[in-house]
Amino acid sequence: MDKKASDRILELHNFGEFGGVNPSISDSSTYTFLTAKQMFDTFEGNTEGCYLYSRHSSPSNLYLGEALAAMEGSETAIVTASGMGAISAVALQLCSAGDEIVSARTIYGGTYALFKKFITKFNIGTSFVDITDLEAVESAITPKTKVLYCESVSNPLLEVANIPALAELADKYNIPLVVDNTFTPMSIHPLKLGAHIVIHSLTKFINGSSDCVAGAVCGTKEFCLSLKDVNSGAAMLLGSTLDSLRAASILKNMRTLHLRMKKHSLNAGYLAERFKEDGLRVVYPGLADHPGHETFSDQMEVEFGYGGILTLDIGSLDKANSLMELMQHRNLGYLAVSLGFYKTLFSAPGTSTSSEIPEEEQVEMGLSNGLIRFSIGLDNDIERTYQEMRRCMVELDILEKELIIR
Ligand code: PLP
Repeated sequence: MDKKASDRILELHNFGEFGGVNPSISDSSTYTFLTAKQMFDTFEGNTEGCYLYSRHSSPSNLYLGEALAAMEGSETAIVTASGMGAISAVALQLCSAGDEIVSARTIYGGTYALFKKFITKFNIGTSFVDITDLEAVESAITPKTKVLYCESVSNPLLEVANIPALAELADKYNIPLVVDNTFTPMSIHPLKLGAHIVIHSLTKFINGSSDCVAGAVCGTKEFCLSLKDVNSGAAMLLGSTLDSLRAASILKNMRTLHLRMKKHSLNAGYLAERFKEDGLRVVYPGLADHPGHETFSDQMEVEFGYGGILTLDIGSLDKANSLMELMQHRNLGYLAVSLGFYKTLFSAPGTSTSSEIPEEEQVEMGLSNGLIRFSIGLDNDIERTYQEMRRCMVELDILEKELIIR
């Protein structure tokens, strides 16, 4: 029987050198070779079982990579110093000057800036499309297209990609479908659905403790080795390497990811339902009226739910800012970017994580000024949290007072 991702992670056992229950942390940037020939062979690419230098790989990074590969069901995975380190390495590995990317238009602002403004320096262009419109996606593909790129659930608008349909298109044109699965670890497994490469910002849910930035690429051995090639690997040569100490700490946090994702999803689903009953403009893929609800349902591992992110459109930036400040004051979470923390985090993406996207494009894609993105935390009593949030909204005239009496 096909094992679940959570079981595959928990069944990994790499002991420490003294029998420790955690693998030892590799505290070295460089490694000795018994013979000069072995060193030469290793640099020639014959790296099986050998470490040459920690920018290439380290035992701790390989352990974390193994856990990520187990989670996504990939042959292997490599880890990077940030999610952007993973995205830029993949884009530059797959594209040369004159090539093009077809990308979802609603993606993380940093990725948007990378594609729209930065890699154009290398004459790599990007067509941004509505990823839910398969005809638009197909008509954007040209002979120059080398990558089809999307997020499984997009940041911040929570559009849901139909991964099997996009994979079919990618296969038809013989291009890789690269999916950033940062918002939905455990819930969605893009490779199982036909995607070719999966990217994660480990900074978010996977690490879950907001204490570091890190990223990963999950894919075939051939592709991941190409990223690390000493002569032509974008990860190796651009140097976005994760430190071993951080890799070891992320690996330990990953062991509770399955529990955390269930609770994040449960809490976000609860709040989304209640906010909807209150007549608020809430967007959450778990709500039956979300345009991507069915697509998500068809692709998901049910027990992990629809993820921990929801958005609320409060109507104006001023109101959104006042609400976030008040919620922080009442200790309902933090006014901070990022996601996947035990505390709820909230920010207005239009002026923060998506500020790289010009205002007129924000309007076109439906990113309004008053939108707040919530990464819902692991609150034990979510009903109490809900009541407290409502109280804040009543105080700011976002909700009417009588609605508070249930
Ligand atoms: N992908 C998504 C969906 C993100 O939300 C982010 C960051 O917010 C990134 C990638 C970039 O990751 P990092 O900040 O770890 O570089």
